[in-house]
Amino acid sequence: MVSMIHCDSLWYGADIVTMQGGKYHLIPQGAMAVTGGKIVWIGPYAELPPITTSHEVVYKGGLITPGLIDCHTHLVFGGDRSAEFEQRLNGVSYAEIAANGGGIISTVRATRAASEQQLLEQALFRLRSLLAEGVTCIEIKSGYGLSLESEIKMLRVARKLGEILPITIKTTCLAAHALPPEFAGRPDDYIDYVCSTIIPQVAVEGLADAVDAFCEHLAFSPTQVERVFLAAQKAGLPIKLHAEQLSSLNGGTLAAKFGALSADHLEYATESDVKAMSQAGTVAVLLPGAYYLLRETQCPPVEMFRRYGVPMALASDANPGTSPALSLRLMLNMACTLFRMTPEEALAGVTCHAAQALGVQHSQGTLETGKLANWVHWPLSRPAELAYWLGGQLPAAVVFQGEARS
Ligand SMILES: [Zn+2]
Repeated sequence: MVSMIHCDSLWYGADIVTMQGGKYHLIPQGAMAVTGGKIVWIGPYAELPPITTSHEVVYKGGLITPGLIDCHTHLVFGGDRSAEFEQRLNGVSYAEIAANGGGIISTVRATRAASEQQLLEQALFRLRSLLAEGVTCIEIKSGYGLSLESEIKMLRVARKLGEILPITIKTTCLAAHALPPEFAGRPDDYIDYVCSTIIPQVAVEGLADAVDAFCEHLAFSPTQVERVFLAAQKAGLPIKLHAEQLSSLNGGTLAAKFGALSADHLEYATESDVKAMSQAGTVAVLLPGAYYLLRETQCPPVEMFRRYGVPMALASDANPGTSPALSLRLMLNMACTLFRMTPEEALAGVTCHAAQALGVQHSQGTLETGKLANWVHWPLSRPAELAYWLGGQLPAAVVFQGEARS
């Protein structure tokens, strides 16, 4: 005698792509039972056990995937850099733009000058675009404040976004993003300030879920980044790293040495970086939007990540300078077209592997019993279509923690 299950809601009538183990694992005509915002049963509708519920939703075909996860963004910032974009296309050089106060410092200036409310409104506009595409979890970094007060302001705005909209927000303190003007010529003094003041304070206030740094010739050296990581460890925060984007500094190895959740960008990662990341379980977060906008030619070593079993995640890197991307769906296509990832790898990159890059893989990223009931219902018949279509085909419905998101 099979006992009766009672659940809050029951959903069926579509094919389900679970993404367990990074594979599609398609369940034709699947069903999911949800209680308390979590999946309590998933499988083919034909095998559904005796079940009672007060809320039943029947999809008329289509495809269900896990809610999408954007695991690397700089979504909170003041102003934008469309004027610079236009200037460059009118023949003004990077050097002239920088000499006129352009580049990242112009974003720092605009972010510092903006009120919390202004930053919130601007970020809401961007976040809504990502939500409309089925994003149910997003990481947002600080890093345009570069002072205690304005880094905290950015992180507060990021937290607030998660209170306003039905989405999970993971925040990352990226104070070691660039050198603020008041520390010009004194990068080590700034790193002292980041380690002794900014990181401990954002940790005490519970504003950051992780710490990140930008390891590059035009940002901070591996030695400086190592000090930031030690401060993060002292504060009990996991780490991530902007590594190997424009040159090889063995950033992947450095991230792995500290057991980082992820190393991100990685165009110039070497075999020893990839090996170290594989051993440490560090996720490779690939960012095709920045690669595209900067018209880079060096691709991240995708084949090597495959060979060493390093999970690959994908993200929008939404930021005003190098990736003003408000579409995670577009990143799927770019990863396939530019980096030659397969559509299945690309989908894993914005679901289960993105979850791992944020340390939330135990509750999100795949559709299975015990995980949060976060999914997207698409008017599509094959999962590869998610990477195939350039835009369009927005979700028919999004469910966040067991509730249909309007
Ligand atoms: Zn970034």
